[in-house]
Order: sequence, then structure tokens, then C-alpha cells
Amino acid sequence: MPVNRVLVIEDDPLLRDALVDILSFQQFSTIAAADGVTGLHLAEVTEPDAILCDIDLPELGGFDVLEQLQTKQATAGIPFIFLTGQQSAQVRRRGMRLGADDFLTKPFDVDDLCDALRTRIQRHQSIVASHHPDKDSQDYPQPPGCSELQSVPELRSVPELRSVNEKTALLVEDLPLALARSQLSVVYQPQFDVCTHQMLGAEALIRWSHPQLGQIPPSVFMAMAEESDLIVEIGQWVLEESLRRFGGNLWGPPGFRLAINVSTRQLQAHDFAENLFSLCDSYDFPPHCLEVEITETLLLQPNFQVCRQLNRLKKKGVQIALDDFGTGFASLQQLQQIPCDTLKIDACFVKELRANHPSAAIKSAAIVRSIIRLARMLELTVVAEGIETAEQLTMLRRYGCDIAQGFLLGRPMTYRQLLRYSGYRLPH
Ligand code: C2E
Ligand code: MG
Ligand code: MG
Repeated sequence: MPVNRVLVIEDDPLLRDALVDILSFQQFSTIAAADGVTGLHLAEVTEPDAILCDIDLPELGGFDVLEQLQTKQATAGIPFIFLTGQQSAQVRRRGMRLGADDFLTKPFDVDDLCDALRTRIQRHQSIVASHHPDKDSQDYPQPPGCSELQSVPELRSVPELRSVNEKTALLVEDLPLALARSQLSVVYQPQFDVCTHQMLGAEALIRWSHPQLGQIPPSVFMAMAEESDLIVEIGQWVLEESLRRFGGNLWGPPGFRLAINVSTRQLQAHDFAENLFSLCDSYDFPPHCLEVEITETLLLQPNFQVCRQLNRLKKKGVQIALDDFGTGFASLQQLQQIPCDTLKIDACFVKELRANHPSAAIKSAAIVRSIIRLARMLELTVVAEGIETAEQLTMLRRYGCDIAQGFLLGRPMTYRQLLRYSGYRLPH
């Protein structure tokens, strides 16, 4: 199921952050602006699936934002919902006249918010699809068997499943079939050059939409898959799906890289590298535009086979990133043994970065700076992930970090959304 992207235009930072959190929890991808001018700009360059906009905004108010969006063909149809503190009929009428689709009065209920968004987005998408019958099927090719899915009898309704154990048991049972039932998908989170603000790449992240339990986080189901050979099958599918998507079609500035997470169990196969090269060949994907991310925590003892595969990849130009750097037990030893190009500073260190620091922030800043310094000495690129605030981005820029990734800059999104997003530059 494609992830829908919502642009939130709200000047109250607490409400803005709360909306972003709520929406991401509800599996929307979000982008946020603190004023009308930025909101208008982001709406034009990213063409979100829906816009939530406060009426009272500094400089350019909500009504003006809507009025300007209505003048452009690309943005006129985007479902637009006003957030308002007032219930006055006059305000509503003015909004409706300008083309607003709905009003939510603060404080609003989460269910109402999601319901309003889903209804408007669905209605809009069905209108677009009826005008362009081939459009969606082109962007989201339905794998064979997908239409039969609805009638598969074992897709029973089990709303009474409540305990964690029951849910886990259901997931363990259903995971082996998730691929065949087309419940897995891949989304892409953009990465930006911290200095030039260009989009430099994206990380492929898997998603599982379970028919009864909804979106299951990969941290849950990939850990289950890791227990068996399923991880190899699923990992292979992610590689194939992502290389197919981007292959023959690589866009963006020179040096654009697609990062894909790979489990060490995949790397233990003696033919992993050969298999990857033949996928690159089949999908016309240049190996030097690929970065393989290995999770440091899974690499407690890099073995001979893993290092051999990594060396083969590197010889053909594939880049190697050490993910979640700093959280494993043997980070430095691994740096010596693994032919790596990039260190990804784990989000847990980035999260604590704050200018007005309590002691945790001081420690995290020290760790982040040390990792960046180490990377400089080893001539490695540094990516910081999990950036959620402008303050964290500024500090990372000051410390000399190369690449930025995080909800502040872009949530994981579909390939099509990433294409649209690629024209977007970070605000200075
Ligand atoms: P990761 O590779 O470290 O991916 C980064 C995770 O951080 C992603 O979670 C991403 O959605 C999340 N993230 C990005 N920016 C922010 C932010 O600003 N704030 C917060 N709170 N989170 C942010 P996700 O997609 O849930 O993936 C979790 C982990 O699952 C990944 O961590 C990776 O280890 C694993 N994973 C995901 N896809 C794959 C895959 O295709 N293969 C394998 N082997 N593992 C995967
Ligand atoms: Mg990763
Ligand atoms: Mg990571």
C-alpha cells in the first residue's frame, strides 16, 4: 500500500511536532513548515497527497496559502484541510469558497484527523485514477496473484487478538507468506549533502502491511526473519525490487547512491556478490551507485566469508556502510577488518544533540564529534541518521558531518514521491 504524504503547515512548534508524530505513527509520511511562505514552497515542490494548514500563520496566512495553491494546476487539486481555533460559520464559508475540503477545530481528536485525511486522499486519488486509468497501475505494478488476495480464505478477521504473544505468534505464522501475498513493499528515505543541500541518495527500507495488524515495523519482523533463512529470501527481494525501481533510470546529481540494508546472513552466501552483480546487470544499475549497509550490531565477529563478499563488492565499486555505528561491541575492531567507505552515526546519539545541554547532550556531542574525527582520519564519509530538529542539523554541520538523513528532511516515501521530492533543497 503506498504511503501517503501530508504537508503540515503550523506555526505552533508543539502542535506541529505533535501532528508529525501522530501522523507518522498512523503510517503517513510527513513534511512540515512553520510558516505560510515555506508551506507554499514545499507544497509546490513536493506535491503532497494532502495539506493540513493552520489559518493564523505569520506573513502569509492560511487563506492566502490556499488561494495561491488554487492558481496552479499541479497544486489546485491537493486535498486541503484547515486547522482552526474558531468555529465561526463565516470563517468556514470563506475557506469553502476558496476550495478548502474540510475544517478541524482545535483541539481535535486523532481519529477525526486521520479519518478526514484518509477520506479526502482516497476521494482525490479515485478522481485522479478515473481521469488517468493507467497511471496508478504503472506506478504500482500489481504482482501476479494480488487480485486473488482478497478472496484467500485464510485472511480471516481476528480483531480479538490482543496480547503481545498472540500477535507475535500470528506474525511468525504469516511472515513466510508475506512475500507471496504481496504485503511487503519498499520505501526510500532521502539523504542530503549537509553543505550543498543537494539530495545525494536514499536508503531503501522495507515495510510490511499485515492485513489484520496493520503496519509492522521492520525492527520487529526483520528480527523474526533473521532467525531463519527467510531473511535471505526477503533481503534478496528488497535488492531486486530496489534495483529494478532505480535501474536504467538513475536520476539526481552525479554521485547519487542508493543504500540498501543487507543482513550478515545474506553475506554468508558464497555467491552473494556474484548474484548482486548479475542483478545490477539485469536492471542496468551501476554498481558504484549502490551502497550496502551492514548493521554493526549484527557483525559481532566478522567472518572470513563476510569479509570476502564485501571485498568483492568493493572491487566492483559498490560502497560499504557500517550502520548504527557506535552501538556495537567491537566498532573499532570492525573498522580494521571491514573494507568500509561510510560510517552511519546511530540515531541514539543524534537524538540527544541539543545546544542548551544537559549532561546527556554533552556526552552525545562528544561521541558524535569523535566519530566524525575518526572518519576524517580514515577518509570515510559520515552519515548522521535520525535528525529531527534544525538544531541537530546545525550542530552536525558545525561538527563536519557529510550527509544528513532524518524526519526533519524527509520521511521514508514511495519511489514516486522520492522522484518528486528530488527537486527539493534544504533551507539554508
Ligand atoms: P536503519 O537501517 O538504521 O534505518 C533507519 C531507521 O530509522 C528507519 O527505521 C527509519 O525510518 C528511521 N528513521 C529515519 N529518520 C528518523 C528520524 O528522524 N527519527 C526517528 N525516530 N527514526 C528515523 P525503519 O524503517 O523502521 O527500519 C528499522 C531498521 O530495520 C533499519 O534500521 C534496518 O536495520 C532494518 N531494516 C529496514 N529495512 C531493511 C531491509 O530491507 N533489510 C534489512 N536487512 N534490514 C532492514
Ligand atoms: Mg540502514
Ligand atoms: Mg541505522
